[in-house]
Amino acid sequence: AAKCSGGRWRRYAAGLDEHTDEKARLGAELRAALDTGEFRLVYQPIVSLPSGDPRYVEALVRWQHPQRGFVSPAEFVPVTEENGLIVELGEWIMRTACSDFARWHAEHPATAPERISVNVSARQLAEPGLAAMVAAVLAETGMPAGRLIVEVTETAVFSGGVAVRAIEDLHALGVGIALDDFGTGHSSLGLLQTVPVDVLKVDKSFVDNVTMAGRHAVIAEALIRVSDGLGLSAVAEGVETAEQAAELHRLGYRLAQGYHFGKPAAEPTARRTAAVA
Ligand code: C2E
Ligand code: CA
Ligand code: CA
Ligand code: CA
Repeated sequence: AAKCSGGRWRRYAAGLDEHTDEKARLGAELRAALDTGEFRLVYQPIVSLPSGDPRYVEALVRWQHPQRGFVSPAEFVPVTEENGLIVELGEWIMRTACSDFARWHAEHPATAPERISVNVSARQLAEPGLAAMVAAVLAETGMPAGRLIVEVTETAVFSGGVAVRAIEDLHALGVGIALDDFGTGHSSLGLLQTVPVDVLKVDKSFVDNVTMAGRHAVIAEALIRVSDGLGLSAVAEGVETAEQAAELHRLGYRLAQGYHFGKPAAEPTARRTAAVA
């Protein structure tokens, strides 16, 4: 039995090594990818309900690896969080998103998105200097602070007092704060009392079954009441069907995001030009 468990341990340890090696290699490749410019941003529309007119966009990072091909951010963002590269990558994301946004406004002021949402990770919130970096990027690109929304998750906010301070500093600049994946954390409602919030991004899990009478629909309805009551904007995430969009609108949602309205793309969908009377 001892021999058997010893073998098991060796296999387990070898697996761990491979895992660690793989992670270290991925980390090094990510570092190089930032230097050689393999990251791209894509933009997904956030639209009005029920019209479906594009209003805002969310910036989402992509890695086009020369051999591996497309690597999902769900895979590589956590690695950059662990090795700290997210701080530098996050700055590149912020600068690229804001300068793209400024360019759209210079080129097509009437149809460019009204605001742009940029994801900020736990590690970035925990690092001092986030608000200063954002202020510098806004000054550089000439973008008004009120046009930027920073998306944070509940877990990121709970990483400590530094994170709450960073959010307060961003808010003081005039930047909008969105709580991402809202409703999936341990204290979503409690958080609304702790940090200044402007936008609730109601998680896809509540949207998925919103057309079936049941608990998801009840929660989706409760969340729009909370949002309206507090004077916040709510965005329903991950809307994939016309039926979901119609039901969300019936519940009182006025903003939505999801494949039904538009997938992330290199250029944002143009807003409809203001109607001429
Ligand atoms: P997230 O911030 O919750 O972003 C929404 C994700 O849902 C995106 O996946 C988007 O493409 C996807 N999505 C949008 N509509 C639909 C839909 O109707 N159906 C389905 N099934 N999915 C939909 P993506 O781009 O793969 O990003 C995954 C996660 O990676 C993001 O979740 C975010 O946590 C992280 N991430 C992406 N870009 C960035 C970034 O620039 N910075 C940071 N820190 N994290 C990022
Ligand atoms: Ca997000
Ligand atoms: Ca989300
Ligand atoms: Ca998510």
